Amino acid sequence: MKILIGHFGHEANTFSSRILDFDEFKDYSDWLHGDVLKEIFLSTPTYLGGMLEVGNKYGVDLFASISAEAPAPLLSRECAESCLAEILEDIRAVKGGLDGICYMLHGAGCAEGIDDLESYILQSIRQETGEKMPICVPLDLHGNITPEMAELATLFGIKQYPHIDCKEAGMLAMKTCIESIEQGMSPQTTCIRLPLLLPCSAGYTFAEPFTSIQPYLDEYKNTHDLIDVTFFHGFPYCDRAITGASVVVTAWSDPAEHAKELADYIWQRHQDFQADILSAAEALDRAEESRAPGYIVINELSDNAGGGAPGDGTHLLRELLARDLPKSIFGYIYDKVAVNEIYKHKVGDRISFYLGGNTEPLHGAPLYIKDAKIINLSDGDHISTSPIQAGVPHSIGRSARVRTGNVEIIVGSKLTQTYDDRPFLITGADIEQYRFICLKSAHHSRAYFDDRAGEIIACDTPGILSGNLSAFKYKYVPRPIYPLDERAELLP
Ligand SMILES: [Zn+2]
Repeated sequence: MKILIGHFGHEANTFSSRILDFDEFKDYSDWLHGDVLKEIFLSTPTYLGGMLEVGNKYGVDLFASISAEAPAPLLSRECAESCLAEILEDIRAVKGGLDGICYMLHGAGCAEGIDDLESYILQSIRQETGEKMPICVPLDLHGNITPEMAELATLFGIKQYPHIDCKEAGMLAMKTCIESIEQGMSPQTTCIRLPLLLPCSAGYTFAEPFTSIQPYLDEYKNTHDLIDVTFFHGFPYCDRAITGASVVVTAWSDPAEHAKELADYIWQRHQDFQADILSAAEALDRAEESRAPGYIVINELSDNAGGGAPGDGTHLLRELLARDLPKSIFGYIYDKVAVNEIYKHKVGDRISFYLGGNTEPLHGAPLYIKDAKIINLSDGDHISTSPIQAGVPHSIGRSARVRTGNVEIIVGSKLTQTYDDRPFLITGADIEQYRFICLKSAHHSRAYFDDRAGEIIACDTPGILSGNLSAFKYKYVPRPIYPLDERAELLP
């Protein structure tokens, strides 16, 4: 039995003013190709880790395609076509032909002239493989899922944000792919879209309303013998006609009625998904007042590179510098130019330089950092310890830790979000020795910090990932849609 495995994820933030070409996407997405995937992702908590575990267990001949994921601005048309060409080439390269495909696609991919990138890719794959080949696709919780995707492939979703259950989705997709090949038929998937934009900041699944919704969905799935039931939050920062939350059900028998019933259930709670919006000043006020033991994490979620934000915003750092809080550290801010400037000097030198604010004016103007001491220089490479991707190589690029007044700042040259303590550790900082830990991430950082920080305070500064959706000028999302329109209704 021959199955092609891969992971191609793009989450488009169309409020970014940039468009990504193929080389930039490869750089952003940690692009890997071929058999190396089988070594890197084996025994990791990732989609590919799950596919490998089940595929190996059942003695499947696994053919590795691409691993690439980048939350990012819109892709150029050329970039999307180049990615697709690589996937199609991998399908054609399997001698004797494939029996099935198990490929992670994100669900919120978007390129110039291609609003539904996943359906575009799946259509092209279908042209290559025909209608019958099992194609099993696990998707990210933030996918804007469409009925077209559900027509083209068997779909699965992760349930948790932070995404600590990617491996389970990869395992289920591979197991179902093997069963589909053995039985000569594929399960059906139904997708029902909800008139709901759910901001990422309101999507933390280890609190209400999700801690009562998810057990209900799990029990429903088991009672009705369904393969998968997922409430996709969608990605509201992709302004397209297909954008929004959805309910997706996969089963061996027709799942349409179940999907409808569950969509009604979720819709009854649509007003429960509310984002807290704290300014930088309010978040730091709360941090200073906190009596929690240990350290306080202040996460600037609206500048999370994991949702296509620039990662070089200056709002929170500006407020932190103004307060000059003792035992404070910011880890990290993305600025290649600043890193190059710092690297003209050595550890111990003092330097003045401009930092951040290079990409999106909404995220704040550049800061002038005066007479900072260079404490540490690092190549930024590390192995992740986050439960989301433990064991996977990761990097913030060539980086530096500097101190100005009481505030320490880590500057990196590769854009990603802070998942764990590694960006601090690789620049020689032990976070246990600080009181205020500022970072850029929405909820993924919580997979690591929930059990370790005295308190976590989310900070929603102006930016292209803000939970304040009324601040965005939507042109293409279907209206009415909640919360932009109170009168939005789920149509029967
Ligand atoms: Zn996601």
